[in-house]
Amino acid sequence: MTTEKSKQLFKIAQKHLVGGVNSPVRAFGAVGGDPLFIAKAHGAHIEDVDGNKYIDFVGSWGPMILGHNPPVVMDAVRKQIENGTSFGAPCEPEVALAQLVKEAFPSIDLLRFTSSGTEATMSALRLARAQTRRVRIVKFEGAYHGHSDSLLVAAGSGATTFGVPSSAGVPEFLAQNTWVLPYNDPQALDELFVKQGPNIAAVIIEPVCGNMGVVKPTDEFLNLLTKLCKRHSALLIFDEVMTGFRLGWGGAQAMFGIKPDLTCLGKIIGAGFPVGAFGGRKDIMEKLAPLGPVYQAGTLSGNPVAMSAGVALLTELKKSRPYDRLAQATQELASFLRAIAAEKKIAVQVNQVGSMFTIFFNDAPVTNYLDATASNTQRYGRFFHELLQRGVYLPPSQYEAAFLSLAHSPTVIDTAEKAFASAFEALRKR
Ligand SMILES: *Cc1c(COP(=O)(O)O)cnc(C)c1O
Repeated sequence: MTTEKSKQLFKIAQKHLVGGVNSPVRAFGAVGGDPLFIAKAHGAHIEDVDGNKYIDFVGSWGPMILGHNPPVVMDAVRKQIENGTSFGAPCEPEVALAQLVKEAFPSIDLLRFTSSGTEATMSALRLARAQTRRVRIVKFEGAYHGHSDSLLVAAGSGATTFGVPSSAGVPEFLAQNTWVLPYNDPQALDELFVKQGPNIAAVIIEPVCGNMGVVKPTDEFLNLLTKLCKRHSALLIFDEVMTGFRLGWGGAQAMFGIKPDLTCLGKIIGAGFPVGAFGGRKDIMEKLAPLGPVYQAGTLSGNPVAMSAGVALLTELKKSRPYDRLAQATQELASFLRAIAAEKKIAVQVNQVGSMFTIFFNDAPVTNYLDATASNTQRYGRFFHELLQRGVYLPPSQYEAAFLSLAHSPTVIDTAEKAFASAFEALRKR
């Protein structure tokens, strides 16, 4: 197996693109080695520029729930392109997609499409601050809500609960308006609300965490969060950019029976095109321009090609409701991974919710960011490369979710399982 062309392309790319990439994790910094340049994809597979084929467990970080290039989406895209690619004016597919999203998410009365998840969460925060006339927001450690200033914030140390910038360039005065709490810690949540309840505009949460690797919330934690937000009139924002239409037709909120005030979406609703959305209660959403005083806009928002792709994908999901099937297959894969790792005496925690999973190289359960960061990332990096050699493409970082798609047939999974077993064996020998 050679990856010469990828290596050469990466050299050239580094002369022109910062770090050779347009999104940091793609540079393989967390696993070592040079990134692969992908030439094409089909079904459960991606193929690099050297012609190597891999079973893909990244799925463009979530959107490819039907696998790559599903005919329903490809046909809809071709049809739309015949009629033009962007108008900067209202179009029919954006209405159709809005109706589908609302059908799936009863908590959403009105919504707005954006071009990314980052814009969705950023705009939802602005709206929450306008609605509540409060400034402070709460997020959870290890969660990712896109890269807007207010959300690139990490937990402060020691006595202070104020957030600190997790990126250079984020002003401290902004970071201090974001409190960062540990995920799955009802006590910390309770303490903050007791002290600061009237100052909290909103709490934003990944209702199932995917961005520290997969971490499931406890019922106690989610229920308390819902109760405290209501009691203190803070808005509850579910960031379902990853979980929306992934964990079920109605996302994580349907799974847990919780009705957030605002919901952020992305990834699957764009079927592989750049799309985000935020929506929720009518009285809040009506604060948005052109109806209200909160400004928000986008040249390519509601882009007809992206919207048509989303309509085709959601229509298919609505019809086939593949979620039980996907969850079952992923659960079986997770069980296999636990069993084979145990057999090879390698300590792993396989967290799985629906069709999302993460293999943590960790001997204790992973329930929050602190647990996740105790994982052996070097070992993950070795595992990642052993798998590449064997034709399996996992996320190039320990702290990411892997995804199954409907194209991951029993035959494909069988092939992947053999590669996983052999990669664990290779780790043991080193
Ligand atoms: C991917 C993701 C985002 C950011 O979406 P982009 O389209 O990359 O800007 C926000 N929140 C969550 C939970 C995500 O998984």
